[in-house]
Amino acid sequence: MEPSLPITQDLLTVPRTLPSGPINLIGMSRSLMSERLLGIGTPKKQVRMRVTQIWQWIYQKGIRNFAEMTNLSKSYRDLLIDNFVIEVPQVVSKQCSKDGTRKYLLRLAGGHEVEAVYIPEEDRGTLCISSQVGCTLTCSFCHTGTQKLVRNLTAGEIVGQILIARDDLDEWTNVNGTNNEIRLLSNVVLMGMGEPLYNFENVRDALKIVMDPEGICLSRKRITLSTSGVVPEISRTADEIGCLLAVSFHGTTDEIRDKLVPINKKWNIETLIKALRDYPRLSNSERITFEYVMIKDVNDSEMDAFRLIKLIAGIPAKINLIPFNEWPGSPYKRSDWSQIKKFADIIHRAGYASPVRTPRGEDIMAACGQLKSETERQRKPRKEITFETGI
Ligand code: SAH
Ligand code: SF4
Repeated sequence: MEPSLPITQDLLTVPRTLPSGPINLIGMSRSLMSERLLGIGTPKKQVRMRVTQIWQWIYQKGIRNFAEMTNLSKSYRDLLIDNFVIEVPQVVSKQCSKDGTRKYLLRLAGGHEVEAVYIPEEDRGTLCISSQVGCTLTCSFCHTGTQKLVRNLTAGEIVGQILIARDDLDEWTNVNGTNNEIRLLSNVVLMGMGEPLYNFENVRDALKIVMDPEGICLSRKRITLSTSGVVPEISRTADEIGCLLAVSFHGTTDEIRDKLVPINKKWNIETLIKALRDYPRLSNSERITFEYVMIKDVNDSEMDAFRLIKLIAGIPAKINLIPFNEWPGSPYKRSDWSQIKKFADIIHRAGYASPVRTPRGEDIMAACGQLKSETERQRKPRKEITFETGI
């Protein structure tokens, strides 16, 4: 089946700037915040300390109100109030699945909406965050890909999703220094809406805050960025971010992958595999995750499993099999469990870990690739949404 939309929308149509308004401190890199603080008259030799203090209030204590920043003088707090805001996206609704998964619908500046999903597990809690409203790509099995309205999230909106989940989990008081193990929100995956590598700078700036010891303070090994295969940005991810990488592989021949992940027409399997082999951080402890959605009679044959093993031979890899999650009107069906098992066994016998991702939060449409469904249905007519200047 050919996707009805082009491979990518013209990226120039994706607004990169937001309307001017009060300056939000959330998402600002250290250097930018230093500049801004200098700009409001903070003495140069105090700037570094002020940035640290503000970061700790925002990212480690969850404070969004300058008045509560009690280690700053009253006059300095007033100066901050006059010049800045501390704002996270607005929580429009929260749904809880019977398996404990929580899905947040969040409204951004301009009225656009994205979703974030919290998935509790025995030994960890993972927040799946979005990087774009919708997606410029049009993978035929992904519901987000059917949504045409797109804008990049700012770094503040990306970090804001984590702050919101922490609020909801009431995790500000029990966060304990660098001990990631005991956190309710211990891992972050960029597997929500959007292609993170088409919003590289904002994703990078946000993740730097997430990894910073004075920021959210999560180890870089607890952050996974999933890409559909934006080849030119792959090595930059290792160099400039340093988090773990997952790749949406899904097809073992160009013919199939072209249909499932149309970016393959631009960077085909061979080019993608080469970029992954050259991935600067590749090692056994930092394996690349190959995500493989199991779609009945499309990519789930035993031949596919053997081809997959051959293609990735020599790359330190994990293979994550994702049973296809259906959405209203989706053109495919989930593979039968017996077929998924056969496929997993072949992969396993070849020496790869091949966990099958248990669908989580299906009752609230929170599983992989289902995001936006609810929102699209309930969304106000597009003309009511204020578009930013610069589209
Ligand atoms: N744009 C990025 C990240 C978001 S999608 C990417 O494509 O990698 C996160 C994962 O969910 C990807 O592996 C994607 O292929 C998968 N996914 C999308 N739709 C799905 C569906 N309907 N069922 C199962 N997995 C899906
Ligand atoms: Fe975009 Fe990823 Fe969905 Fe493809 S799978 S349409 S890249 S969000």
